[in-house]
Amino acid sequence: MFQPEKKDQPNKIKYLFGIMSGKGGVGKSTVTYLSALALKQRGYQVGILDADITGASIPRLMHLPKYEMKVCGDFICPVETDQGLKVMSISFLMDNEEQPVIWRGPLLSKAIQQFFGQVLWGQLDYLVIDMPPGTSDVALTVMQSFQLRGLIFVTTPQDLVSAVVARSIEMAERLKVPILGIVENMSYFLCPHCGQTTNFFGQGQTEKLAKDHGTDLLVRIPTSLEFGRMSSVGLDLSSKLVQDILAKLSQVISERLD
Ligand code: ADP
Repeated sequence: MFQPEKKDQPNKIKYLFGIMSGKGGVGKSTVTYLSALALKQRGYQVGILDADITGASIPRLMHLPKYEMKVCGDFICPVETDQGLKVMSISFLMDNEEQPVIWRGPLLSKAIQQFFGQVLWGQLDYLVIDMPPGTSDVALTVMQSFQLRGLIFVTTPQDLVSAVVARSIEMAERLKVPILGIVENMSYFLCPHCGQTTNFFGQGQTEKLAKDHGTDLLVRIPTSLEFGRMSSVGLDLSSKLVQDILAKLSQVISERLD
């Protein structure tokens, strides 16, 4: 078990859980941010650890300005956003967004461990981990080294995607990390003009995936302008759709973790 290097450890994190997919571009980071914000809106202290080092996109998705990382004594200070979330991402340490992180697995694993143990998270109710993609050794590090209370899996209703997500779920099962449930992102298209919904990819895939693994479909998130434009204009908190999704996410997460 990974232990933080300092004995006088100031971090007290009540619930540590991860958001995982297996397939890129399905909305893992989006669901990470929405989950964290949902819990924050309920009054909890929440942090986000962007463990998707090679594809770090949390700061961009959250529409954060450029932050300079600061040092707090022996620790790295996380960024504290206007929404009151504490965030750590490799993106804050890079000169620019296009700069690639070309590291081998052991270095990636070490960086993630430092992001956990050497960042001054302080007292948190929830630390949400945007998990590394796939079933590689980096995902393995997080699953084996951190005492995760569980994982939420993100999928889209396409058979190609659910087959890949199924592999990640199976990895969690083998490593005995509890599966909290599945979020179906891009479930349907919500037309901003007429309000009609269209199922692009068909239905039933995610229910089947959940059933096959003895878990539940927790929330359906539509493909919509609010989430599509989040990274360029920020999340529209006045939108009823956004508030409904946040309310549902905070409810299911606290139910599963308490
Ligand atoms: P991943 O972490 O799985 O690679 P992201 O969360 O980074 O995926 O999302 C990829 C892109 O898709 C982002 O530009 C995001 O804004 C967009 N996106 C995600 N979910 C939705 C949605 N429900 N509706 C519209 N756009 C979405």
